[in-house]
Amino acid sequence: MRSLRLISIVPAAALVLSLAACGDSNEDKNVTTPVAKPSFEPGTRMADILASGKMTIGTKFDQPLFGLKGLSGKPEGFDVEIAKLIAAKLGIAEDKITWVESVSANREPFLQQRKVDMVVATYTINDKRDKVVDFAGPYFVAGQDILVAKGNPKNITGPESLKGKKTCTVSGATPAATMQDKYGLTTNELVLVDAYSKCRDALANGQVDALTTDNVILSGYVSEAPDKFELLGKPFSQEPYGIGIPEGQEPFCDFINKTLKDAVADGTYEKAFRGTAGKVIQTTPTLPEPRGCDK
Ligand code: GLU
Repeated sequence: MRSLRLISIVPAAALVLSLAACGDSNEDKNVTTPVAKPSFEPGTRMADILASGKMTIGTKFDQPLFGLKGLSGKPEGFDVEIAKLIAAKLGIAEDKITWVESVSANREPFLQQRKVDMVVATYTINDKRDKVVDFAGPYFVAGQDILVAKGNPKNITGPESLKGKKTCTVSGATPAATMQDKYGLTTNELVLVDAYSKCRDALANGQVDALTTDNVILSGYVSEAPDKFELLGKPFSQEPYGIGIPEGQEPFCDFINKTLKDAVADGTYEKAFRGTAGKVIQTTPTLPEPRGCDK
């Protein structure tokens, strides 16, 4: 299956950590059981969150596999599980989390305005964003790819073949910048909206010829409607997903990185993936090396 190509974009260094999870089934462990009595140094963000007894978390609501708000009214997906796993380690139960839809362009503003405690939303770590927010992680690496109508009627073969066609993507996200800066798509060729599900709908009814963003988001749309869409399956970027937090919370960043590492060791990272995106993407990812919190 095309999504197996994910293997090639997972950094080799990440393999070491995955070995720690082997030989331990952990089927009985609930990812989201909150730690009974965590204790944190006073004055840290962790201590403040614990004292408040609640958390507000930004995620996507329209991306199957990573963040999709379904009929239950609660978002579901790998990003959501990663967020719940961090909340649980802070002593915050699932029912004490308020989920805020954070479309791509809203992620930095929401963190800067402290509207959310953290953002887990297919959020690529890059220098531009790093200037205004901080990132823990990465916890996953995706790659930009292209979604076309089933049968690929416009014969799209890669990003270079999108010249002269209509391609949809989202404002404030890395794929838009890549298409403009690297592949020279003009404002006529690039249709920008606020959320990927709008591009999916535009592709479904023939208003655009292609949708470009991360392969895992596109895989989610294929899984919803395999008779309508197909994924090119040729990723052409590296998108390391980080957990966005407001600037100046280094101990919180370190805490999240440790939580991720522990989740690999006790099997909850793998369980979180298998219960969500792993239902469609066959390859279980390995946790990339953390980038460090002193950036
Ligand atoms: N990972 C890319 C980004 O953070 C694209 C996906 C998204 O917009 O959420 O910009």
